[in-house]
Amino acid sequence: MTEGEVRFYYCGPTVWDYGHLGNFRSAVAADILRRYLKFKGFKITHVMNITDVEDRIIAKSQEAGLSIDDYTAKYIEALWEDFDALGCERPEIVPRATRHIPEMVTLIEKLLETHHAYQSDGSIYYRIASFPEYGKLSKINFAGNIAGASDRIDTDRYEKEDARDFALWKEPATSTEPAWDAPIGRGRPGWHIECSAMSMKYLGETFDIHAGGIDLVFPHHENEIAQSEGATGKQFVRYWIHFEHLKVDGETMSKSKGNYYTFRDVAAKGYSAAAVRYFLLSVPYNKQINFTFDALAGAEKTVAGLRDFRARLSEARTEPGMTEALHETTLRAAQEFEGGMDDDLNTSVALAVVHNLTRDVNTALARKQLREDNQRELLDLLERFDTVLNIFGDYTQEMLDNEIQNLIDERQEARRRRDFVRADELRDELAGRGIILEDTKDGVRWKRK
Ligand code: AMP
Ligand code: ZN
Repeated sequence: MTEGEVRFYYCGPTVWDYGHLGNFRSAVAADILRRYLKFKGFKITHVMNITDVEDRIIAKSQEAGLSIDDYTAKYIEALWEDFDALGCERPEIVPRATRHIPEMVTLIEKLLETHHAYQSDGSIYYRIASFPEYGKLSKINFAGNIAGASDRIDTDRYEKEDARDFALWKEPATSTEPAWDAPIGRGRPGWHIECSAMSMKYLGETFDIHAGGIDLVFPHHENEIAQSEGATGKQFVRYWIHFEHLKVDGETMSKSKGNYYTFRDVAAKGYSAAAVRYFLLSVPYNKQINFTFDALAGAEKTVAGLRDFRARLSEARTEPGMTEALHETTLRAAQEFEGGMDDDLNTSVALAVVHNLTRDVNTALARKQLREDNQRELLDLLERFDTVLNIFGDYTQEMLDNEIQNLIDERQEARRRRDFVRADELRDELAGRGIILEDTKDGVRWKRK
């Protein structure tokens, strides 16, 4: 472990279709984790794998008459578009399974040598009986055969020594199935082996954090431990973090249940990416979120309100100096935000801090207590919060309608006083901000340039 550095792996998407909001719940949670570690001053190496070969991808690409690379290209491109729109920072390293077959083969060879794996009918399986600690993560009692908890189709067609054993390398069922020639035979990798091989390649045999959705605890992460620790004899991961699911009417949002919305679906209904992100992070990662359009609409209003608040704060005209009480409020908000996030990344506490601060600053604004130094430190603090939350977005100096109206009223007032110098100044200020005034017999009209 290098002091001040965190090496972490997130089990990324399987690119057989567009990502749904459940997938992005986990992606946003991983983004909050990486952003908060950076906020705390750690250097991050974040790896997110892309699963671009597995049973569903093979079936879909064959249906479409495409190679798996041609089939997945569209969904990988879409993934990045969605990722960027949702304000998720791209991980430092994004390995694709199909580009790491030799690393997987080497790991499987090692498992064969150490008798953690065996061949059967041209496929290779992990021998769970060889790893007595199997089950230590999920704390499941593995007496008997336990079906996989995930949605994944992992139908092992061949003879296994034990029903619990899982495939590391699969012999192709037909000559048209994608397969790689390797010393261990022609085949393709099982799903679990890719994460062991790619995480250890980029992060080392022991690394700090391994993340993923809660569905991955068993069997995926349990299998990753068995593979990695079986091969190296060393602790694989120091800390596991699992994100609770996005639910719809009490059921996990998933493709197989058909109860899902992709990010594209909700964007097409007019919801902004910022609202989706806010909604997804409004509940701490370790609690389930229930999806409703009402909640999304609520998030939309909240984000608009926060952005409006930031604009008003930024554009408030302030006198030099500092109001001590507001300074204290600002310092307390900074501490409480960090306290909430330090407490297992409690984003709902962090957001409550932001909302309370908004209320206090609005009161101060109404009482004309906001001074120049308060304004500066509050804007800095919001910017710092947003390095983690990323909900305020980039601030453009676009003026709000009511602000424009205030300046116009002020200009009219100056004209009534026959203070034409001030009136012209106000007209120029508005012009500088892209607002054009038109004096008509019915009063002043304005439009944006
Ligand atoms: P997949 O594309 O199925 O491999 O999933 C990509 C990531 O999304 C994994 O970390 C999953 O655990 C996670 N995930 C899948 N469904 C949900 C859900 N409904 N809520 C939260 N995370 C999910
Ligand atoms: Zn994984």
